Amino acid sequence: MHYEGHIIRPPSEANAIILQVTTGCSHNRCTFCGAYREQKFRIKDDAVVDSDLDFAANYCTRQKTVFLADGDALVIPQQRLLDLFARIKEKLPWVRRISLYANCRDILNRSPEELAELKAAGLGRIYMGLESGHTKTLATIKKGATSAEMILAGRRVKEAGIFLSVTCLLGIAGIRYSLQHAADTAAVLNKIQPSQIAVLTLMLLDNTELGQTAAAGSFQLPDKLGLFQELRTLIVRLKVPRCQFQANHASNYFTLDGRLPRDKDNFLATIDEAIAGTLDLKPETLRGL
Ligand code: SF4
Repeated sequence: MHYEGHIIRPPSEANAIILQVTTGCSHNRCTFCGAYREQKFRIKDDAVVDSDLDFAANYCTRQKTVFLADGDALVIPQQRLLDLFARIKEKLPWVRRISLYANCRDILNRSPEELAELKAAGLGRIYMGLESGHTKTLATIKKGATSAEMILAGRRVKEAGIFLSVTCLLGIAGIRYSLQHAADTAAVLNKIQPSQIAVLTLMLLDNTELGQTAAAGSFQLPDKLGLFQELRTLIVRLKVPRCQFQANHASNYFTLDGRLPRDKDNFLATIDEAIAGTLDLKPETLRGL
């Protein structure tokens, strides 16, 4: 496979064929994100992607899903994406689902009909980074969208019948807005009603604007107790009728993995153990992105 740079995929795509159709992220401005800092964004040539599809046709016959990397493959123009889906179907007929990361702007650039067309062509899952429902925080971290736009984008994906996974980031609002961030994020998620919520914990990186702001003393990440209270507030306020909830990323201090509302009480009991200091936490050295 012709992989360039770091290949990043959601935990749920661990068994997918990773087809890199773009490099980097067309936005690449979020202050906390170091994923593609050094990577120049481009859509990869069809010939290179086709040769990877040929490789997958020979060697990936047991993998039933395809994940399109990198950071926002939905930026690819509609017809080109439909052509790509048709080639995936032709060369990998056993594949059941195609998934990708999409940012809010790329979703809103699609009409509901265009999203439905992508769904019919094989797009089964979209991962959207919300990070926070707190509008001031979204502006500060340069996410490129307001909470109202996030709600619109999330609902549009759901209305097209596409499984929507939304990512939230503990700690991203700092100490100052921590609990407001948790409450506003829950409010946005309650309006979107995503199929899956994935919670990560902020790790400050030296090569990011936020990492440098923190080093200069202008941003304070909540301590562990603060992060656990934030997570608790988020879960208490979530009102989702049927939703997978996962905090199983390498950046988290402990794992929550289940369904809401079914597992809400269990989740809260685990968080309360973490707050009380009776839960085994992942050592700092084992946390990662
Ligand atoms: S968080 Fe996502 S949208 Fe923001 S720069 Fe990183 S990859 Fe791009």
